[in-house]
Amino acid sequence: MTRKRDYYEILGLSRDASVEEVKKAYRALALKYHPDRNPGDESAEEKFKEATEAYEVLRDEEKRATYDRYGHAGLSRGAGLDFGFGGFDLADALRAFMRDFGDFGLGDLFGGVSAPSVETRGSDIRINLQLTLEEIADGVKKTVRLKRLARCGACGGSGAAPGTGRSTCQTCQGTGQIRRVQRTFFGQFMNVATCPSCGGRGSVVKEPCQKCRGEGRVQTQETVEVQIPAGVSTGNYIPKKGLGNVGPQGGPAGDLIVFLEEKSHDVFVREGDDVVCDVEVSFSQAALGTKLEVPSLRGTEEVRLAAGTQSGSVVKLSGRGIKSLHGHRRGDQLVRVHVRTPVKLSAREKELFEELFGIEKDGPARGGRAVRRRQGAHGPGELEEE
Ligand SMILES: [Zn+2]
Ligand SMILES: [Zn+2]
Repeated sequence: MTRKRDYYEILGLSRDASVEEVKKAYRALALKYHPDRNPGDESAEEKFKEATEAYEVLRDEEKRATYDRYGHAGLSRGAGLDFGFGGFDLADALRAFMRDFGDFGLGDLFGGVSAPSVETRGSDIRINLQLTLEEIADGVKKTVRLKRLARCGACGGSGAAPGTGRSTCQTCQGTGQIRRVQRTFFGQFMNVATCPSCGGRGSVVKEPCQKCRGEGRVQTQETVEVQIPAGVSTGNYIPKKGLGNVGPQGGPAGDLIVFLEEKSHDVFVREGDDVVCDVEVSFSQAALGTKLEVPSLRGTEEVRLAAGTQSGSVVKLSGRGIKSLHGHRRGDQLVRVHVRTPVKLSAREKELFEELFGIEKDGPARGGRAVRRRQGAHGPGELEEE
């Protein structure tokens, strides 16, 4: 029998190390030598097992005391070390690691290495939420109905029938991995894949829960409240952590991602935080000036048109637009005025227009002269007389 290394030596600790130090030292070693990080590397596997065994003894007050007094011999003499006949094997080591460090999530620990994760995270749920400009203008709280996989209440998500537990997966002997040697023209490769029977957990439920058939999760209908800030636009999204589907057999939940979509508006066109609308007025309204009631995002607004308002001119209603997503500023409402030329004239109207034309004949308002076009920010541009 080969001589076993000293547990303190393995973890690089002094004999008076605290439980916290034991945990810390083990975690560092376990992460370095974890089989998921070192696929096919037997010496790393050995070191992982060795470190875990040392950890299992030194983290436990009773076992540690026995070890301190009698060494390895004390433990093998039935001191409550439940390693079984085969000694401390890899499956035991992996289980011990997951029991104490599994909650961190393997993905995080291993920095995205495609290791078989022991707890499968549930999928994200993506939904589209349509918003009116009125809702966007000031922000809104929306309630969305959602179909999601939630933790099974009967088994608490474990997937095991109440009163039953898990047993070591027979397919992978508890390692969570299937290793296969592949011989190719270039040489021999170790192929490591997640065990299909247990999904990489190394254990399977003895008796599946009746309600969720061992999945640990059930389909539910839920309502979720989503606070939409003012000023959002199509393409923005709001993540709600942990409101996605929960993972199988107690795996953590994915996220709910609410994609926002702006509905097109009957009256307004959005330009950044401003909204633009068009109104039509008659010749006489434009010439004499008038008061108009125009729709706004928050009801109606009164607009005064000065006498002599030109077609295409824009009236700005300050602060009546959309509240900015970044800051407290509010956009404006821009009212574009169009002068409507009458198409069908009554006899009386025709008479009056002809009379008007007679008056205009030699006056400055006479039409038909060329004008230079000046491009305005909005509308067809303002006309400037030559
Ligand atoms: Zn269940
Ligand atoms: Zn398995």
